Amino acid sequence: MHLKSLTLKGFKSFASATTLRLEPGITCVVGPNGSGKSNVVDAISWVLGEQGAKALRGGKMEDVIFAGTSGRAPLGRAEVTLTIDNSDGALPIEYSEVSITRRMFRDGAGEYEINGAHCRLLDIQELLSDSGIGREMHVIVGQGQLDSVLQSKPEDRRAYIEEAAGVLKHRKRKEKALRKLDAMQANLTRLTDLTAELR
Ligand code: ATP
Repeated sequence: MHLKSLTLKGFKSFASATTLRLEPGITCVVGPNGSGKSNVVDAISWVLGEQGAKALRGGKMEDVIFAGTSGRAPLGRAEVTLTIDNSDGALPIEYSEVSITRRMFRDGAGEYEINGAHCRLLDIQELLSDSGIGREMHVIVGQGQLDSVLQSKPEDRRAYIEEAAGVLKHRKRKEKALRKLDAMQANLTRLTDLTAELR
């Protein structure tokens, strides 16, 4: 499994559709200051479901949409597609190539797709959860972030290691199951009250 291509359309400084083809191995993006190198990395975080504007170096989520320049009007939506080569079947889906798309409009509405079919962010997270790539899996280490990892408290460092080891997925499932149990308990209590009232 490897990242095959990344297409940005209306995302930050990439007003026109731009596709970066990625080969297995190391890819370097070079360019002058302010030319959009970090925006490419932001696009990968964003398409994988990043919800925090700060993590994308913006004030609000809408800042990811091309804001216009002196020669070009602002756009109404941002769209990023990440295509993953799945010929080794690492992702649990019957396709040798998987495209994940995220779209966002100026009114704040957004949508996700897997291979062109609408889906929820949860579906994308589930699909990627065993692959080592995903929103909270620390596969993207930003400028200055390495220092914070090295200087973090032992408990925080443990959290990084747990996530890298794949514990995160199970912790999330446990939290979800506990929430369901709580809701069920509340229903049971209500049912007991109603039964008592009807007696
Ligand atoms: P450096 O080498 O200094 O780290 P870089 O190549 O990583 O720079 P980026 O930070 O990716 O550059 O890009 C910054 C550029 O993106 C700025 O020129 C900024 O105006 C532009 N930019 C960011 N958001 C938007 C947006 N929503 N619309 C238009 N342009 C944007």
